[in-house]
Amino acid sequence: MSAIEVTGLRKSYGQVHAVQGIDLTIATGEIFALLGPNGAGKTTTVEILEGFRTRDSGNVHVLGFDPRTEGQAAREWRNRIGIVLQSTSDSGDLTVIETIQHFSGYYSNPRRVEDVIHSVGLEDKSNSLIRKLSGGQRRRLDVALGIVGNPELLFLDEPTTGFDPEARRAFWALIQKLRGDGTTILLTTHYLDEAEALADRVGVINDGKIIEVSTPSELGGRSTAKALVTWREGSEIKSESTNNPTAVVNKLSTKFNGVIPELTVTRPSLEDIYLEMIGQTHE
Ligand code: ATP
Repeated sequence: MSAIEVTGLRKSYGQVHAVQGIDLTIATGEIFALLGPNGAGKTTTVEILEGFRTRDSGNVHVLGFDPRTEGQAAREWRNRIGIVLQSTSDSGDLTVIETIQHFSGYYSNPRRVEDVIHSVGLEDKSNSLIRKLSGGQRRRLDVALGIVGNPELLFLDEPTTGFDPEARRAFWALIQKLRGDGTTILLTTHYLDEAEALADRVGVINDGKIIEVSTPSELGGRSTAKALVTWREGSEIKSESTNNPTAVVNKLSTKFNGVIPELTVTRPSLEDIYLEMIGQTHE
């Protein structure tokens, strides 16, 4: 069974048509990244799946459950999911460890609090008051609260905003470990390198519609896109766009009798492809 199944999802705020007919299936155990510019409809979509926003129409199943349902079944369902929102409410007068302990009490099968603190690298701060944490440390605590319940499905809304590069790498390793444990993860991010490092599949959303769903390496025809070969010839940097970079490099190698000065071979990055896709839909 799929972890998430969405068909024909729509949501408007007055005249703003935030989500305009989204279909999406996310497999159990998959890491799926939702990409899109500011205001594209990512948070609206994700918060409908989390049961925090109402929808106008469409079918939604999350772990086999309609998030619109209330009562005991909804509480049991909530116990199986973890959520890291874009911003969380303040409980500044508690320490890190107290806060995680407090949240772990909401779940029937929580992770060990010490393990969670270690996972997000907050050991040195476990007795610090939350209001004394830096922005990035605060965000790591948000992630800790999302995983403490040992969720089957984890929602991460821009989880690494404000992280330094080292913390971001550590976070990626944590997410890969969770994937290894079988956790399904739906991630929204503005960092294309993050999507590339983590996601099995990415979905690009713009103006409330999904433009394409694909693997990071195949999005927008990326895997078959032309490569750009550049090299130096005297004082000039030359370049050639080609479907067969090996042939170009061989030709140059013969020409230069071995070492080709300042040779580079590049293919479009996920960011190049993404920006092209977003740009095209605005034309
Ligand atoms: P970002 O990357 O900036 O977080 P997003 O893709 O998550 O953007 P949404 O927050 O889903 O986008 O917003 C989609 C559209 O709906 C935007 O035009 C936004 O202004 C509008 N919108 C979102 N929430 C509300 C609300 N509560 N009331 C009115 N309009 C809203």
